[in-house]
Amino acid sequence: MIGRARELDAADPLGEYRSRFTLPDGVIYLDGNSLGALPKDAPEAMQRVIKSEWGEGLIRSWNDADWFGMAARIGGKIAPLIGARPDEVIACDTVSVNIFKLIAAALEMRPGRKVVLSEPGNFPTDIYMIEGLERQGLAAQRLAPREQIMAALDEDVALLMLTHAHYKTGEVFDMAALTQAAHNSGALVFWDLSHSTGALPVDLNGMDADFAVGCGYKYLCGGPGAPAFAFVAERHHGDLKQPLTGWFGHARPFAFSDEYEKAPGIEQLQCGTSPVLGLAALEVGVDLIAEIGVARLHQKSQALSEFFLECVAHHGLDVELVSPADAAARGSQLSFRHPHAYPICQALIARGVIGDFRAPDILRLGFAPAYLRFEDMFEAARHLAEVISSEEWKREEYGRRAAVT
Ligand SMILES: *Cc1c(COP(=O)(O)O)cnc(C)c1O
Repeated sequence: MIGRARELDAADPLGEYRSRFTLPDGVIYLDGNSLGALPKDAPEAMQRVIKSEWGEGLIRSWNDADWFGMAARIGGKIAPLIGARPDEVIACDTVSVNIFKLIAAALEMRPGRKVVLSEPGNFPTDIYMIEGLERQGLAAQRLAPREQIMAALDEDVALLMLTHAHYKTGEVFDMAALTQAAHNSGALVFWDLSHSTGALPVDLNGMDADFAVGCGYKYLCGGPGAPAFAFVAERHHGDLKQPLTGWFGHARPFAFSDEYEKAPGIEQLQCGTSPVLGLAALEVGVDLIAEIGVARLHQKSQALSEFFLECVAHHGLDVELVSPADAAARGSQLSFRHPHAYPICQALIARGVIGDFRAPDILRLGFAPAYLRFEDMFEAARHLAEVISSEEWKREEYGRRAAVT
């Protein structure tokens, strides 16, 4: 098996990209779906922004270094990764805040309808945002299990909002079919691409999606708390009214007018001043992921997870796979259910194999294709087999819950 792993690594067209990331020795990093690794170019890029643009340029850098245009520029670079046009995507705020803005905007575009349809078990923030708008009297939440979503679309549904690749199980939705069905029922469609962007191909315009958001710090490697991005199809730019009418979304922020007039393009989604340092780090990650290309990343992601499953079988490991067994039906991760998933995850981390735990009983292993090797798959499966067969996870220290799991 290790021989096969090394052969696969030697033949891997993405093998060279590992050296473009900083990865600590002795660590097998299977959590790039939660916090992407550090691109080697990021510290220098940030140093330049801090020392030269901030330190020397001071306020002049809003013009001279185009800090003002950064959010739209980076959005334009994310666009080809998700099948959007460059002027339809902007890097701003967090996923949560962008979800709020776009749900509220969508509801205003469908007067007479209040229901936001999603699935139970969607990423918590997505559901909480619907709840917040419900409390304000603007939305009505409806959650339908994934098999029943089509049937739950009726004339009350203003917006279908789903996450493409499920954060816990990795199951992916058929985006095109659901988008079509929702449109047929008169609803708008909003995709959360947090677990897709930079790992799975997405074609927003090919399926006529209305809205999307995605995460900057996962597969895009933008750093902890990196700005997120938001997509609005160009056909909606005229009608859209987002609720966080801050000055950065104004057509002319520096006119300092008393009247809000939204920017005509995707810039209207901005609220306050751009987080320049965060955007500077994000841009490095986006450039690198775009350079590798989503098609190659997706192919490698599938090959990695398939090989991991082979290694698990090779070790005769008895763990319950909750992700789809068919690589085409899952995101870039494998999730396993085990009653002792938490201490197993901690024991793995102690061995340098960093995955994560998702309550109540899921061990989640993410396969960021830009920097992982097939040899890592072999080694991670070996460690997992040893932790379980030796019952190493039973050690007391592995049972204590940290704040972030
Ligand atoms: C990671 C993730 C988020 C994160 O939201 P933040 O506001 O950036 O913390 C939201 N939705 C999904 C589906 C995610 O996977």
